[in-house]
Amino acid sequence: MAHSFLLWLLKFICPDQHFKEITDVPLAELWESGIRIIFVDLDNTLTPWGSNKVSEPIKQWVEEAKARGFQIVIVSNAGFRKRVAQIADTLGIIGIASAGKPRRFAFYRYLKLKNLTPQQAVMIGDQIFTDILAAKRAGMKAILIEPLTERKFFSGRIQRPFELIAIKLLRYMKLLQ
Ligand SMILES: [Mg+2]
Repeated sequence: MAHSFLLWLLKFICPDQHFKEITDVPLAELWESGIRIIFVDLDNTLTPWGSNKVSEPIKQWVEEAKARGFQIVIVSNAGFRKRVAQIADTLGIIGIASAGKPRRFAFYRYLKLKNLTPQQAVMIGDQIFTDILAAKRAGMKAILIEPLTERKFFSGRIQRPFELIAIKLLRYMKLLQ
């Protein structure tokens, strides 16, 4: 009983896949599995924490995704609308600030607007308790990557040890490779 409850609970923080960097995420595979929209976290996923700089390989990955027909949407909890919009503009994609992850409203609102289902969406991010939890709660596919840089934001920094424990536990339970 306790075991099955734990399993049920862990499903909400268990990414479907885990890669080192966003550029490792296989786009052809995603498209074949029916994914049409890629929600992507900003800080430590697309850019180093608090930076406006997107590396050349990440820019190329975004270009490739667009060329394949994916819609790409930055979904960030950061409150600086201007910064999120600026980075999104540079990449030629959509940007949503103050998304309130792990809450689902930003995702649902956008999916409804585009007439897509959660099954057609993936969320890629570096934080289990915001990015992955939001995706799993919304019924979307979730891909965890390793943070690009050390987290400077307090809540992100204290989350990291818990995330590492969660990853160990998920691996131990054989929920994650
Ligand atoms: Mg992040």
